Order: sequence, then structure tokens, then C-alpha cells
Amino acid sequence: MMLLNPNQRNTIFGTTYPLDDRSFEIMNQAIDFFEMKGKRKIKEDDHQRTFYADFIEFQKKERLFATLLTPNQYGFDSNCRWDTWRNCHFNEILGFYGLAYWYTWQVSILGLGPVWMSKNEALKRQAADLLLAGHVFAFGLSERAHGADIYATEMNLTIQPDGSYRANGEKYYIGNANISPMVSTFGRFAGTKDYVFFTADYRKGEYDLVKNVTASQNYVAEYALHDYPVSEEDILSRGQEAWDSALNTVNVGKFNLGWASIGICTHALYEAVTHAGNRRLYNMFVTDFPHVRQMFTDAYARLLAMKLFALRASDYMRNASPADRRYLLYNPMVKMKVTTQGEEVINLLWDVIAAKGFEKDTYFEMAARDIRALPKLEGTVHVNIALIVKFMLNYFFFPEKYPETPRQDGRQDDIFLFNQGAARGLSQIRFHDYNLPYDAFSSPNVTRFKYQISLFKEFLTAATPSETQQKDIDFLLGLGEIFALVVYGQLILENALIYAIDVNTVEQVFDFMVRDFSRHALNLFSKPSTTNTQLEYCKRMIEKPEPDDGRFLAIWESQVMALKDAYELQP
Ligand SMILES: Cc1cc2nc3c(=O)[nH]c(=O)nc-3n(C[C@H](O)[C@H](O)[C@H](O)COP(=O)(O)OP(=O)(O)OC[C@H]3O[C@@H](n4cnc5c(N)ncnc54)[C@H](O)[C@@H]3O)c2cc1C
Repeated sequence: MMLLNPNQRNTIFGTTYPLDDRSFEIMNQAIDFFEMKGKRKIKEDDHQRTFYADFIEFQKKERLFATLLTPNQYGFDSNCRWDTWRNCHFNEILGFYGLAYWYTWQVSILGLGPVWMSKNEALKRQAADLLLAGHVFAFGLSERAHGADIYATEMNLTIQPDGSYRANGEKYYIGNANISPMVSTFGRFAGTKDYVFFTADYRKGEYDLVKNVTASQNYVAEYALHDYPVSEEDILSRGQEAWDSALNTVNVGKFNLGWASIGICTHALYEAVTHAGNRRLYNMFVTDFPHVRQMFTDAYARLLAMKLFALRASDYMRNASPADRRYLLYNPMVKMKVTTQGEEVINLLWDVIAAKGFEKDTYFEMAARDIRALPKLEGTVHVNIALIVKFMLNYFFFPEKYPETPRQDGRQDDIFLFNQGAARGLSQIRFHDYNLPYDAFSSPNVTRFKYQISLFKEFLTAATPSETQQKDIDFLLGLGEIFALVVYGQLILENALIYAIDVNTVEQVFDFMVRDFSRHALNLFSKPSTTNTQLEYCKRMIEKPEPDDGRFLAIWESQVMALKDAYELQP
């Protein structure tokens, strides 16, 4: 039982992903809130773009964000801690019921990043007090004209004769900036051009809430500061520390996007299988069509893989230290790979349920729209692939020994995330040998996948991309997709061992992994600059998974069809 099912909370949060009492209660409270709100009201609020004030009020009353997002040192009780294990599950629940609810939580996490990373103790205490009072937080990094290019930040602080500052500039796409008394705002000092993070309060006169730039339940703000007074007490960090805390905050936050995808896909899968499994056409059930079975089984296997990978990446986040920064590879992959797989899952489901996916009273209608957002936020897929290719050389050719990383489901506060240090030196990070989990399996599709990997590794040495190719981001993205697949498979297998996933299920996952490898090899083959030797390798990488009707049928009946009528959101 790996997938979230609100009807089976005891199994999910009692056995599969064990939680302590208060954490279990928090998950229950969140699920109850949405089940009681019900599908009709959730959909009505979505259609009418009603701001989620009810959810914010609820989390305030139950002190949910305060418990989950306050490090123990600043917490109001012993249950407070920043615990990625339980935050993963909370993320998933919010995505499961509606991305808008997840968004206010997510941007609070981002807003709190530069605060918990700061040396300004008074502001940390203030943040803890505001959390306890039920407030949400905001992260003012993006500017309208500059997109991913944060070097070009224009928000600036000008020093005044009394030593204080005035802030001027505007920020764009900032969630919660309409109601947050503590908007972590990134800027530069006017003279030195040094970076700075300071807090701004939406209630002050010099804070101009210009508009909501989206037409949704979310308030994604444009705000401008006009001679906004900033004192030394409002400054979170400056110079290199401010820069690092911007990047390190995104490191923490972007991981959550994968979990939102998992939540969305899980709910959509229940709805789709239940619809198709009960619908009769030509005197048979839609789920009797072979292609429908194929699409559903693929969607299920992809979703399971998303969850196995994201759970394992959480282990490495929680276990991270200055000596072990492997999370910096796995974490962007949760962002870029899990979220794009989420799109694939929804595409598959939508092809099956067709017209139903447009109906206004389905969850699916929201899922089909929202799943698209996640690969695009907090760094696009391109930005994240460009980031991970920096790890490729060490990953394949210079493995390092690390102690085993067991499942990290303990009650610890993940304070290293707020002490990540300088956001550089990526090419020095070493990884444990990726062969270890692969060699623990000898089933046909995993074996085929290993063969594809061996060819790719040979490609890198015998047909090494030229300097020009290495500077060509389009070519690099092609390489990066294949590299990402190898890492994806590695962590999936590590978790298949931890969660004792049966070999049939692993094989079904590697059925699509082999096909995806072939697809990406063909993509690399088609790049304009691919040389003849490279072409030959790409052709050899194209493989077909091993068919096994018995295995397929077993998964279809025992795992996919088992989801029919297993869960439906209360009306
Ligand atoms: C609903 C929503 C909510 C948001 N919430 C917040 C928030 O609360 N706080 C906040 O600060 N921001 C927020 N954002 C901004 C969001 O993080 C950015 O939109 C996102 O990082 C991508 O920037 P962009 O869309 O401007 O793309 P651009 O930066 O304009 O990119 C254009 C193209 O260039 C490519 N590209 C850019 N740089 C690189 C690179 N280095 N390597 C390879 N390719 C590259 C991109 O992939 C893209 O295809 C939000 C955005 C939205 C839509």
C-alpha cells in the first residue's frame, strides 16, 4: 500500500509511512478538513477563484504550519520541528485535494527559508510568533523582467543619513505577498551592489500591493516598495550569505513540487480508474480494452516510481551534511523529473477518460490544469537539467564510499537545510556507486536497462561530446535526460529494496524505463550536431522491454483495478 488513500489512513500513516501521534493527527486533520469541505465546495471555490482564506483559518486554528514549519529551537511545543519526512506527506495531501491549498503552504516554506537561514535571532523569534499566530509567509525573489536571471535583480536599498535604508523596486509572481507580514525580499544595496535579504510587511504604507498577476484561487502578487523604510533589524542576510540563502531556499522548496505532483496524480488515478472501470461501451467495460489497460498500468507504474524516487530523495535530504551533499543531485530531480512524469501520468489518464476530464465537477479537471504548473515553477526543467549535468562526470566515473543511508523517518529536525553553506562547488560532489542497487536485481527489464546504461557510459568515453557540444545547451539537455533516467532508476531500486517491492512491480516500472531510455536515445540521435560514432551508440541504446503477459495481468488485476471504487472525495 504505497499510494495515499484517505480511506486507509491507518495503514498508510500507521504502517507504510509511520508517524508519531501528533504528526498522524495533523495528517488526519488536514484530510478531514478537505473531506468535510467536500468536492462541490472545493470545485466551486476553484471555479469562482475564491481565495483560500478558510484553509488559512483552519491551519491557524489547528496550528498546523506552526507545528510543521518551526524548528524545534523556536517552537511553541515539543512537536514543532522541520521534519522533511512528515512534510512530504503533508505536501502530498495538499496536492491531493487542490494545488491552491498547497501553494500557500509552499510559498510559506520559501518565505521562511531565508529567515531560518539568517543569523538575525530577533527575526527568527518574530517568525515563530507569527507562525503561532497563524500567519503565512512569502518569498520575494522573482522580478517581472528578469525571470531565472536573479543576478539582474533591481530591487535596491539606499542608505540614509541615519544609517537606515529605503527600499525601492518591484517583485512579481510572489505568492502570499497580499497577506504576509514577513515577506522575505531579495535585493541589492544601491552603492556596493551586494545582495541582501530583508523582510517587508504588507501592512505598511510604502508597500504597494499592485495586483494578483494570475486569475486563480492563488494570490500571486506584484508588489512594489516605494521608499519602504528598512532598518538594520529588518535585514536577514547580506552579501554572499544572502545569495546563498536564495539558492539554498530554492533547494529546500523545489523538492515539494514533486510531492504536489504525486498528490495530484494519485487523486486523478482513483477518479479515472473508477470512472473507466464502471463505464460500459459496446457491452463491455472500458477497462477491458487492451490499450486502456496498458495506459492505466503505465500511469500506475509511473506514479509508483515517482513516489519511490521522491521518498528516497527525502532520505538523502535528511541525511545531508557538509560532507554529504548528494541531495543536490536528487533534489532537483524531484523537481524536474517527478513533476514531468506527473504530466505524463495525467496525459495517460486523460487519454482514457477523454470527455470526462473536462467535466466541471471532477477533480480531474483541476488536475489536468495544475499538473502543468509544477515543472515550470522554481526553475524550469531546462534550468534543473543544466544544473544536474554538472554532476555527471563524478557520478559515472568517480564513485565514493559512503555509509548506508537507511530510511530517514525519524523525528529529527532537519536543521542542516538551514545551514547548507555556500551554494557552490557542485562539481566536487561525489556519489556512491550507482551500480550497487542495480546489481541487486537481475530481472529482465532491469538487466536490459543496465545494458542501456553501459552503452551510455561507453558513449561518454568513446564518443565524448566535443567542446562545442558541451556548450550547446540543447545537446546537453538531451544528454541530461538520459543521465537523469539513470539516477531515477538508481533511487527507485534503492527504495524498492527498502520497501520490499515485489519483482513483478519493479519489472513493470522498468518496462517504461527501458522505453523512456530508448526515446531519449532517439532524441539525442536526432540532435543536429551528433557525430557518426555518437549516432551508432544512440541506435544501440534503443531497446524494447521484455514482454510478460502474466506479469502485466497480475499488476493490472491486483494493483491497478484494485483502485477502482477505492476512494472518492465526499460530495
Ligand atoms: C503561479 C506562479 C507562482 C510563483 N510564485 C513565486 C514566488 O512565490 N516567489 C518567487 O520568487 N517567484 C515565484 N514564481 C516565479 C517562478 O519561480 C518563475 O516563473 C520560474 O522560476 C521561471 O521563470 P520565468 O517563467 O520567468 O522563465 P524565464 O526565466 O523567463 O525563462 C525563459 C526560458 O529560458 C530558459 N532558461 C532560463 N535560464 C536558463 C538556464 N540557466 N539554463 C537553461 N535554460 C534557461 C527557461 O527554461 C525558459 O524556457 C511564480 C511563478 C508562477 C507562474
